[in-house]
Amino acid sequence: MNIEKVDENTYRVQSHTNKDTWYVVNIKTKSCTCLNYKYRVRGTGGCCKHYIDLIKYIEQKLKDNEEVYFQVEKFIKAKNNYALWEDVVVEFDERLIDDMILFNKLIERRGYLMVM
Ligand SMILES: [Zn+2]
Repeated sequence: MNIEKVDENTYRVQSHTNKDTWYVVNIKTKSCTCLNYKYRVRGTGGCCKHYIDLIKYIEQKLKDNEEVYFQVEKFIKAKNNYALWEDVVVEFDERLIDDMILFNKLIERRGYLMVM
């Protein structure tokens, strides 16, 4: 099972049964393009197994990157918790920053980053 990030709120999640099939999961709306979601889950307030896979993936990523996330937070806090985006991405990987925003560890406002 593989997962790829598409944009801020959407991910592609590989099917359990068919490795050639991928579903698009929106993390904010908990929606998925799979048939189970379309015919059974939608409108119930629940979620499908692809959403659960995605959440597990993100939790693992948070655990794996704990140390570097801490370094990013330290860097921003050292700038009075108001660091220019460009200054942060010079020091750290941009995708890492995007993930931190997605995981609600950072907020971005008018080109500045703050620790939540
Ligand atoms: Zn699904």
